[in-house]
Amino acid sequence: MKQYHEGFDDLIKSAFDEISAARERFSYALVPRETGVVTWVSSGIARVSGLPGVGFEELIKFRGGLYGIAFNVDEDEVGAVLLGNHWLLEAGSEAERTGRVMDIPVGDGLIGRVVSPIGAPLDGKGPVVFERRLPIEREAPGITDRLPVSVPLQTGIKAIDALIPIGRGQRELILGDRQTGKTSIAVDSIINQRGQNVICIYCAIGQRTSSVAKVIAHLKEKGAMDYTVVVVTEGNDPPGLQYITPYAATSIAEHFMQKGRDVLIVYDDLTHHARAYRELSLLLRRPPGREAFPGDIFYIHSRLLERATHLRPELGGGSLTALPIIETEAQNISAYIPTNLISITDGQIYLSPKLFELGVLPAIDIGKSVSRVGGKAQWGAYRSVAGDLKLAYAQFEELETFARFGARLDENTRKIIEHGRRIRECLKQQEFDPASVPEQIVVLLALINGCLDKVPIDSIREAERALKKAAAGLPEHVLKRFFSQSKLDGEGRDAILGAAEKALSQFRRKP
Ligand code: ATP
Ligand code: MG
Repeated sequence: MKQYHEGFDDLIKSAFDEISAARERFSYALVPRETGVVTWVSSGIARVSGLPGVGFEELIKFRGGLYGIAFNVDEDEVGAVLLGNHWLLEAGSEAERTGRVMDIPVGDGLIGRVVSPIGAPLDGKGPVVFERRLPIEREAPGITDRLPVSVPLQTGIKAIDALIPIGRGQRELILGDRQTGKTSIAVDSIINQRGQNVICIYCAIGQRTSSVAKVIAHLKEKGAMDYTVVVVTEGNDPPGLQYITPYAATSIAEHFMQKGRDVLIVYDDLTHHARAYRELSLLLRRPPGREAFPGDIFYIHSRLLERATHLRPELGGGSLTALPIIETEAQNISAYIPTNLISITDGQIYLSPKLFELGVLPAIDIGKSVSRVGGKAQWGAYRSVAGDLKLAYAQFEELETFARFGARLDENTRKIIEHGRRIRECLKQQEFDPASVPEQIVVLLALINGCLDKVPIDSIREAERALKKAAAGLPEHVLKRFFSQSKLDGEGRDAILGAAEKALSQFRRKP
C-alpha cells in the first residue's frame, strides 16, 4: 500500500513538472486583426472604410472566402478590386487585412493543367501540385541580368521563321482584326515546340469559353499539353480576375525561366485585358483619358512585357519569349492600345483581313510586319534566303496591282510577277502543319533560285510536298549545318539545289 502511495506521488510530481515546463514554454502573442467595413459594392469592386494601415495592392479578405486587391488607397477609404463574385458582399460586411499580396502556386505540377489565375484547377483533375508560391506582380530582371537574344524560337510557320524571325527572349506582337488567324499563329507556335525543350504557357484573357475549349482541344490532340500550362479567365469572369491573369501566368513562366528553361508565353489577348482594366478604373472613378482608358494603361502593359527576357548564364540562362495578341478594329493599327504595344514590343506580325479573304493563309502582311531583334538569332541558312525573298516579294506586290489592269507587260515584269505568285503560294500554310527547319530551307532555297518558276501554279502544293520529302533525304552533314549561325556554303547549296531539281523534275511544265 505504501509502495502504491510512493508511486502515486511520483506520478503527480512528474505531471506537475510537465505542466510548469509547458507554462514556461508558452508565450502569448497578440495578433492584431485589422478589420474594416464594406461601404459600397458594385460589380467587380467594393469600397471599404476602416482599414487605415492597408498597403497598395494588398490582399483584403471578405466574407465567404472572397478576396480583393486594394487598388485605390485613400485617406479614409479603400477601393478594392474583387477576385470573385460580388453578390457575396453587402454594405456593412466585414473586410480584413491579410498583410500579403496576391500570389499563385508554381511548379512542374502545373504542366498539362488548366488553371485559373488564382491557381484553382479548371480541368477536373484534382488539386494542383506545386513547389512554391510566387507573387503575381514581380519586378522585371535588371539590365545587368539580361543577355541579348541569340537563339531562334522556331514557329514552324515559313513566313515567320524566314522573314519575321523570333528569338528566345523576344517580345513579338501579333495583331489584326477579329477572325484573321491570330490565335492560330500562337497555337501553331506552341505545337511546334514539341521536342524543343521549351515550356509553353497559353494565357487566355476574357475570351469566349468555346474558343478556349477549342484551343485546349487542339493542344491535346497534337500532344502539346505535355509541355504546356493553360491559364484561363473567361469573358464572364469578374474584371479583377481578368486583370490579374497575365501577371499570374507570367509568374508561372518565370518560375521555369529561373530554373534555366526556355519558356514561351502567349497572351490571348491584351485587348480584353486593357478593357477589363478600363472597366475597373472607371468603376473606381479614376479619371478617364484617351478612348476612356486610364492614364496608366501604358504602364500596365510595359511592366508585364518587360518581364520577358533572356537571362545571363549565371542566373540559369533561361529565357521568356512573349507573344502578346491584340485585336484591331477596322485595320486601325494606330489606335491607342495597338500603338502602345507596338512601342513596347520588339516587333509585330500584322494579319490582314484582305489577305484572309483572298485565302492567303496565314494572312501575314509582310510589308507591315517586322522583327527588330530576331534577325540576329536566326539560323544562318535562313539568312542566305531571307533577303532575296523579301525583295522579290516586295517587288511582286508593287507590280501585281498593274497586272490587274490587264496592261501589257514586258517579259521582265511578267517574270517577276510569275516568280512572286509562286512565293505567295509557297508561303501559304495550313493550320497545325508546322514545317521543320530543313523542310523550310529546301523549299525557300529552291523558290528563290527559280526552281519552282517552271512548275504550274496549281501544282505548287504538290511540288512543295516533294521538296519536303527531299529535305529528309539530305546528307547528315548538310542537315546539321542548318542548325548553326553560319550561312550556307557552296557545297551545301549545291546539294540542296540538286536534290530539289530531282524532286521537281516530274512537275515541270511540258514544253
Ligand atoms: P478571334 O478574333 O475570334 O480571336 P483570331 O484572329 O484569333 O480570331 P483564329 O481563331 O485563329 O482567329 O482563326 C480564325 C479562323 O481561321 C479559324 O476558323 C481558323 O481555323 C482559320 N484559320 C486560321 N489560320 C488558318 C490557316 N493557316 N489555315 C487554315 N485556316 C486557318
Ligand atoms: Mg483568337
